[in-house]
Amino acid sequence: MASLIGDPIERELVTLHERLKHDYRGETSASIPTLEHADHRLFGLAVCTPDGYVSAAGDADVEFSVQSISKAFTYALALSDRGLESVHEHVGAEPSGEAFSAISLEEETGRPDNPMINAGALVTCALVSGADAHEKYERIHALMEACAGRSLGFDETVYEEEQGASDRNRALAHFMRSAGSLTDEVDPTMEVYLKQCSVLVSTRDLAVMGATLATGGVNPLTGDRVFSGTVARHVLTVMATCGMYDYSGEWLLTVGTPAKSGVSGGLITASPGQFGMGLFSPKLDARGNSVRAVAASQDLADRYELHALTLP
Ligand code: GLN
Repeated sequence: MASLIGDPIERELVTLHERLKHDYRGETSASIPTLEHADHRLFGLAVCTPDGYVSAAGDADVEFSVQSISKAFTYALALSDRGLESVHEHVGAEPSGEAFSAISLEEETGRPDNPMINAGALVTCALVSGADAHEKYERIHALMEACAGRSLGFDETVYEEEQGASDRNRALAHFMRSAGSLTDEVDPTMEVYLKQCSVLVSTRDLAVMGATLATGGVNPLTGDRVFSGTVARHVLTVMATCGMYDYSGEWLLTVGTPAKSGVSGGLITASPGQFGMGLFSPKLDARGNSVRAVAASQDLADRYELHALTLP
């Protein structure tokens, strides 16, 4: 697991970190005080190979709330619990082309467009098996830990702040209750969703979690199977088409690996059979994606032809 100083991937990450570290474009998320006042100089990069070798640069061990990156893992759990067909009855798999917090549902079905935007994530939280909100959240937390290969903390302050800033998500949940796509009550669904956003991860964790998706569901550090290869493929597919909100199409064109971003500035990418990558930098662009994480991913994709549709 420990990375050797001077390994070629690490050298690459250190160079990239140097090159981008003074790029301070964008703004931290104004959604909650902890994110708004995050140290915008933080910048971490990490790569994990399918055999569990982690290379990192910059602030790769600093922890931050996982926010929307959790959506990919909750979707994995809902799929494992219920299967694609049953999940698909409640949440679609089409890019919305709209902001992550958009209040939009498919006209005919009342389903949210996909599980990577807030509306869809609220629905997948409700679809996770569990007697109550506590049990559902504990299962999501445990799944993220199994993907990271270590215990993950929880940021109480972020959770409190999220609760105080949840009007829009609550409105979305009510809207989906009336449309029939949200199967649980609003309050427990909000609890699960806001708690999953408040789990703490590091950039290094994101790389390992990405590698768990890239290997088809087996954590490369622990060797444990966390979900099936089919579930991993479903999650990676929806990450590829919907993981970067209304930037997903351009991302697929220019970077080409399945990815998921979050408002804390984290970004996870996974290249099937090749690697998982974590990136973190708090300043975001207008769509809510981390400026330096996107720039670093684009740079690496160009130079190493990482696009998933590159011919061998
Ligand atoms: N907690 C945030 C919200 O629900 C997460 C959104 C995100 O990371 N894009 O608005």
